Amino acid sequence: MKLMKSQTNDTLYTDVCIVGAGPGGALLSYLLNQKGISTLLIERQPHLHKSFRGELLNADGEAILNKHGLYSHIQEQGLLHLEQIQYWEEGNIIHTINPDPSKGEHHVGVHVPQDHLLEAITAQTEALSPLYQVRFNTVMTGLLRDKDGHVVGINVRQNGVPASIRASVVIGADGRYSAVRKHAGLAPEIRKHGYDLLWARIPAPPGWEPAVRMASMDGQQLALFSQYDGYVQIGWNIPEGGYAKLREQPFAPFVGKLVAAFPCLADSVAAHIKDWSDFVLLSVESSYSSKWAEDNVVLIGDAAHTMTPTGAFGLNAALEDADVLAELLMQMAQNKFTSSDVLQQLQVIRGSKVQQQLARQVHMESSFQQRYESFR
Ligand SMILES: Cc1cc2nc3c(=O)[nH]c(=O)nc-3n(C[C@H](O)[C@H](O)[C@H](O)COP(=O)(O)OP(=O)(O)OC[C@H]3O[C@@H](n4cnc5c(N)ncnc54)[C@H](O)[C@@H]3O)c2cc1C
Repeated sequence: MKLMKSQTNDTLYTDVCIVGAGPGGALLSYLLNQKGISTLLIERQPHLHKSFRGELLNADGEAILNKHGLYSHIQEQGLLHLEQIQYWEEGNIIHTINPDPSKGEHHVGVHVPQDHLLEAITAQTEALSPLYQVRFNTVMTGLLRDKDGHVVGINVRQNGVPASIRASVVIGADGRYSAVRKHAGLAPEIRKHGYDLLWARIPAPPGWEPAVRMASMDGQQLALFSQYDGYVQIGWNIPEGGYAKLREQPFAPFVGKLVAAFPCLADSVAAHIKDWSDFVLLSVESSYSSKWAEDNVVLIGDAAHTMTPTGAFGLNAALEDADVLAELLMQMAQNKFTSSDVLQQLQVIRGSKVQQQLARQVHMESSFQQRYESFR
């Protein structure tokens, strides 16, 4: 089936409709276009750049992008190999973790600006299919069902105007607050992790080596990530629900702790973190849907399993899901989309690794202080 527009109303027809042009949705769209499967990718934002999204690629994500010939295109746009994980105390490095070349490691992670990742993938998709485009400003508002209750597409608002997309399969790649998941009744189990995150981005000091830098702040993790464009991303864990109380305290002593841990940041912090409004608060939770597929609907990435920022797994897991699902959709296409049973296989193939990563995050979070103290 080719992507078509009805002559009589505002209904589009496609084989696969992907909701959400994040890393999972964008990669899946590329892979399906590569296989010649008619695909429509919709995105509620007017562009590809969401305000917050993970940007640290690990070996799993890098391997997927290399496997599909995309890594070099992203590299052309710009990325940064991080050379070390460093543990700091009062301005000194107390422990370092280096890549192990005997295991084929040449860095400890890669910072990829989200626009570089997504623009490189969409540019390569356009190169495959000149008519391909992400439909921006298009919000999925509900599922379309036939008289027997089977999902046959979605309802959207495109630039505020209601429309329908008829599709053999609907992919929920629409992130942690997934509308597809909600309308398909695939409710997730949500877990709080006992902390929230203050997030800020400031220019890196001159000569700042590309690394992940960790410190312990009042028993909580403070992490700094070097970024490609000469910035430092600061992720400061604070007790869950504790931000309002924190804000009642004077700001200078609080931010002074950051400078005490990393004195070389003093000038940049003084210039760019002047009050509480220079931090963004992120409420941290993870989730796992007990079912990732129902009828002709399947979830990938954060929609199926939201991870916390710990260990930088989420973006990479979304890419891995897309890689596996593309193969399953190919099988469906070979059978002319007559059965959706194969969609259940995504969770069978990916579920246990995702659950291990979720458990690993909890372990990393609960053992951080102990691990940090062992380096003293
Ligand atoms: C602060 C923070 C730091 C993180 N750091 C890392 C990291 O370093 N490494 C890592 O691997 N992971 C990290 N993560 C996790 C990572 O960002 C996510 O796991 C990843 O973005 C998931 O990709 P996705 O494609 O599933 O969903 P998303 O990236 O959330 O994309 C979903 C897309 O769907 C769109 N959408 C939503 N609803 C609709 C709708 N109704 N209609 C149409 N479109 C819709 C959204 O606008 C969005 O563009 C971090 C997360 C946070 C919050």
